Amino acid sequence: MKAISVLGSTGSIGTQTLAIVEEFPQRFRVVALTAGRNLDLLVDQIRRHGPEVVALADAEALPELRRRLEALEPAQRPARQPELLGGSEGLCAAAAWGSADLVVTGIVGCAGLLPTLAAIKAGKDLALANKETLIAAGPVVLPALKASGSRLLPADSEHSALFQCLQGTPWADTARLSTGVPTPGLRRIQLTASGGAFRDWPAADLAKATVADATSHPNWSMGRKITVDSATLMNKGLEVIEAHYLFGLDYDHIEIVIHPQSIIHSMVELADSSVLAQLGWPDMRLPLLYCLSWPERLETPWRRLDLTEVGQLSFRAPDEQKYPCMGLAYAAGRAGGTMPAVLNAANEQAVALFLEERISFLDIPLLIESVCERHGADLRQDPSLEDVLAIDAWARLATSELAATASPALLTA
Ligand code: NDP
Repeated sequence: MKAISVLGSTGSIGTQTLAIVEEFPQRFRVVALTAGRNLDLLVDQIRRHGPEVVALADAEALPELRRRLEALEPAQRPARQPELLGGSEGLCAAAAWGSADLVVTGIVGCAGLLPTLAAIKAGKDLALANKETLIAAGPVVLPALKASGSRLLPADSEHSALFQCLQGTPWADTARLSTGVPTPGLRRIQLTASGGAFRDWPAADLAKATVADATSHPNWSMGRKITVDSATLMNKGLEVIEAHYLFGLDYDHIEIVIHPQSIIHSMVELADSSVLAQLGWPDMRLPLLYCLSWPERLETPWRRLDLTEVGQLSFRAPDEQKYPCMGLAYAAGRAGGTMPAVLNAANEQAVALFLEERISFLDIPLLIESVCERHGADLRQDPSLEDVLAIDAWARLATSELAATASPALLTA
């Protein structure tokens, strides 16, 4: 019985992880949950899973959570009353909770950084969904993993696909993720991309893209921030940096290919030119289950892939003019050090402003580019955690200030 902690339990990754736990009650149990502010769902999850500890990012909502748990009918109460914690310290304590074997990181954004580091320092294995943490703080996270011996299992579907393909090579045992050393025998990575919400839109129409347009993904059901990232293709850019940190390849050997059907989840090319791919319906439960069960495979009744039903698999090169965020991510990755943290923070802030309808869709890459340029002279190659946190805060502020002063003039006039 594996003991699981779920950070961000009320989100898309969190709820799907808990659904898997419910499907395999003999294999997995939940010991810790963390959430932002969705008390309705959190109370229901506490009732169903009876965790040992629960942490809320919004510490002010703790009394209300306590009140709601006490108000439950006796039959509805969890088997045990969990310890309730709040704020950043509470999230970190829940992430490092002693009885957990594996921590699923489903918090969105750089808010996941400190809890993820707390889990690593406590020696926990991680199912990494929260890619922003690795992107913003790769130079801090990688040495922390090395020092603690924590294993980082990729939950992102593309990186899970790459990881699964590498299990079929002779280097599987030695291919320790996130050591910063290139995985032996791995020549090239091809990350597949659905193309996001605007895949079939002419570039000229993007100036009119609304929040509703950008938050409806053709293939995947996900949280709002990552759905917008998919529409800008920043998500794929972030995944390029994530792949660099996980598998140690340089950026010239990590490519993006548009694959509208989202059946091939990514591909590795090996030293002998052989290409291995992992296939499946677009369903996040699969990579999440693999993180939970690895190295085993569990039997599921889930819909099985039928390629005759799919009919065709198609591929094309991404349009760099239409999607400038990809180029920005490659440039930030190549610059290294603190630049990916700036890229990530500027993107988080720009997407938040877009979701609040304060900037347009096309402002997102313009703001990010401008903030990255400003950071150029201050770039630090070997940042500390404090450096990353300070630069993250600076980049968010710089993005907001720029948006307030330059938009709508910033908009592609
Ligand atoms: P959601 O927005 O659906 O969920 C985010 C979770 O984080 C919620 O539980 C939310 O709590 C919590 N949260 C929000 N802000 C904070 C904060 N400041 N401090 C602590 N907790 C917070 O996001 P997703 O599940 O879609 O994505 C989570 C991560 O997984 C992201 O990094 C994303 O890139 C990655 N990912 C997601 C995929 C998907 O299919 N969804 C696929 C691959 C990667 P509450 O709702 O209670 O406020």
